[in-house]
Amino acid sequence: MNHPTLFGDHFLHRLTSDEQAMVQRVRGLCRDTLGPQAAEVARQDVFAWDHFRLLAREGIVGTAFPRAYGGSDARQQLRIRIIEELGRVCSTSASLITGTDLSTRAIVAGASEALKQQLVPGLCTGELQAAFGLTEPEAGSDVRGLKTVFRRTPGGYSITGRKKFITRASTADWFVIVGCAEDEPSTFLAALVPRDAPGFTISPDVGKLGWYGVPIASLSLTQVAVPASHRLGAEGEGFSLAQDALLRARIGHAAMALGRAIGAVEIAAAYAVDRSVFGKTLGEHQGVQWMLADMATQIEASRALLSLVAEKYDRGDADVATYASMAKLQATDLCMKVVTDALQLTGGRGYLQDFPLERFFRDAKLNQIGEGSSEVHKTVIGRDWVRRARGAERNPCLHEGSLVDY
Ligand SMILES: Cc1cc2nc3c(=O)[nH]c(=O)nc-3n(C[C@H](O)[C@H](O)[C@H](O)COP(=O)(O)OP(=O)(O)OC[C@H]3O[C@@H](n4cnc5c(N)ncnc54)[C@H](O)[C@@H]3O)c2cc1C
Repeated sequence: MNHPTLFGDHFLHRLTSDEQAMVQRVRGLCRDTLGPQAAEVARQDVFAWDHFRLLAREGIVGTAFPRAYGGSDARQQLRIRIIEELGRVCSTSASLITGTDLSTRAIVAGASEALKQQLVPGLCTGELQAAFGLTEPEAGSDVRGLKTVFRRTPGGYSITGRKKFITRASTADWFVIVGCAEDEPSTFLAALVPRDAPGFTISPDVGKLGWYGVPIASLSLTQVAVPASHRLGAEGEGFSLAQDALLRARIGHAAMALGRAIGAVEIAAAYAVDRSVFGKTLGEHQGVQWMLADMATQIEASRALLSLVAEKYDRGDADVATYASMAKLQATDLCMKVVTDALQLTGGRGYLQDFPLERFFRDAKLNQIGEGSSEVHKTVIGRDWVRRARGAERNPCLHEGSLVDY
């Protein structure tokens, strides 16, 4: 079946010619390699080394890292386009890029110069890998409830705790571990722990619904000795370093979900023009046209919101986190709906394993859960809007007393 490219490139003009060339290169990789191989990667749940190495070789992994260490420090305006292209065909490839942000951002932002010199060039080329250990058995959405403790020792820290759902645990060389000071639970710390540290154990991979090619596992730390030089940021900065990593990863989740939604509509639309029912093609039935209209309209609105978020990130706007929550909430919920509707539109064909939509359907769910669930983002946005309402200029239609008089 021929999948038409349905959605325009109207945000490309926001990119420089070099950035546009990078998007075209990624599109070529998706067309020639990543798309055709996506189903095979999704049949397994082992780390997708070939895809990862390819993305590293092509400089796409390196877009997350500063130039001083071999990266290209790409603007978010470019990264959302790269991730959208990858998500359109292969969630595994897209998550290898968003996962790089999650697992390495705290190193870029908080490691000493010596550690960065030691690690970041290898992280850029894919010779090294890191994982991000924040979530715990008792701390997921409520992340301030971390129970992992850092005990101060003469040379640094002794870390004890448990982590779960850690992506790349089976392949990472280094782990960013976030916890709190044993004697000061409100002081958050982050440190880098090597895979072979005594007292550090990694469980076998844990099976999951989708996102194959990027396995997860649990971690256990029993008095793991970490030198002070491996701390990331200052004492007390662990939480903000984690939030900084999550911010970038959230923007990535939104872009990935958006790309997958675009891919799902492309596939469903191709089915709608090929398949005939009741004397005409599916696409000639008004009910199907209305489904496509809803999907396409909301996808374009989502793309505009995400582009605004990228602009805000690149400019360093103070309110980018709220807007990133909006984009993640909107794009990931939209993706789940679009993929469900696209699968419905393709009938029994959509339900079969050799058709891409069942994979898209399984993968869509995680975007609504990881990097802050939809409910968490609604809470973040809602709180911010209440705070804004307290300080905002009142609508001129309201006169004095409007809100209390009857
Ligand atoms: C495949 C996968 C990969 C992951 N990779 C990593 C990783 O690399 N590193 C890492 O640290 N973590 C990782 N995570 C963890 C992920 O970020 C958490 O699963 C997520 O933050 C949600 O936490 P939880 O699962 O503990 O859900 P819970 O906190 O138990 O929440 C359960 C449900 O309750 C809802 N909820 C919670 N609070 C409220 C509220 N106040 N009001 C209404 N509803 C609420 C949530 O939205 C959710 O739907 C991964 C998870 C998965 C599944």
